Amino acid sequence: MSKFLSSKYASLEPYTPGEQPKTQVLTKLNTNESPFPPAPEVVSAVKEAAENLQLYPDPDCTELRKAIAAVQGVDPDEIICNNGSDETIYFAFLAYCDSGKPAVFPKITYGFYPVFADITGVKYREVPLKEDFSIDPEDYYDAEGAVFIANPNAPTGIPLSLDQIEGILQHNRDNVVVIDEAYVDFGTESAVPLVAKYDNLLVVQTFSKSRSMAGMRLGYGIGNKDLIADLNALRFSTNPYNIDRLAIAAGIASLEHDEVNREHCRAVMENREYTVDELGKMGFEMTPSTANFIFVRHPEIHGSELFRRLRERGVIIRHWDKPELADYNRITIGSREQMDILLREVKDILSEEVAK
Ligand code: PMP
Repeated sequence: MSKFLSSKYASLEPYTPGEQPKTQVLTKLNTNESPFPPAPEVVSAVKEAAENLQLYPDPDCTELRKAIAAVQGVDPDEIICNNGSDETIYFAFLAYCDSGKPAVFPKITYGFYPVFADITGVKYREVPLKEDFSIDPEDYYDAEGAVFIANPNAPTGIPLSLDQIEGILQHNRDNVVVIDEAYVDFGTESAVPLVAKYDNLLVVQTFSKSRSMAGMRLGYGIGNKDLIADLNALRFSTNPYNIDRLAIAAGIASLEHDEVNREHCRAVMENREYTVDELGKMGFEMTPSTANFIFVRHPEIHGSELFRRLRERGVIIRHWDKPELADYNRITIGSREQMDILLREVKDILSEEVAK
């Protein structure tokens, strides 16, 4: 840290993204990316858009919002596009929380929420999960500020039902409720249909996971037109060109070929069920995940030990040192081949444990 940094950032603890290895990795299952590349039409659209990079992109993302609106069944004015859904969530912290209005979110959830609260100078309350790692929706009724819930939650993968989300919305008429649907397309019901009914709902989605575009940085929020106008005021006060020409072109092409994305999601869900079955046979305990990852522990081997031994064998999964998570690992669901490599190596490590 330099001597020039403002004292307000002195104690900032930045978010730590999952490792992006510099050397060739055999099996990367640590950051919930898709194992599949985007449709070839997405790649062609990016190449074509690259020919006009001398020009600024459309700051209103008009064509992209129209394409999202058509797929989501909402009005284009109910959509804001952002540089990854992280940016949408960041803007929601800026817009809907302040010193008098704290943020409220689960104690175990996406690790960026407390970081956004810190950098925006917002106090927050972390609500414990139930013993089985699920969220009790009633814990969020009549919250003292904006509510942030990942659905399904991370890193557990456990979803709330639409009725449970609606309960939270009904009991927070004066608070914005942000539902972060980064992983919704792998088997969770989306809250987008509730946008028409609740002016306090902001749904956040991304192209990073189910649309194979983590490398592009494209996310969006869907909410009542007034909420979107708030967020746009912040966007136009920071970086109106936050979505570049390549991302706009890729997003539109991806939605035009959304059947390819849905097929990829189906494959990931099948691979998830397969992996859950196989790990279950080996004695793993798992939360019931509807995401493209699973949250697992084994009674015979500590989470950090399994993480380390898999890494030595070229398989990277995600581990956190936090005491409440340390026994567990989060494993991204990849292709069938990747899952077979994981299962083979895990079996081998467990048999070494038994032989000790
Ligand atoms: N929400 C959750 C729960 C996530 O896990 C992630 C990915 N790390 C994001 C939002 C942000 O994704 P992106 O910025 O790539 O859209």
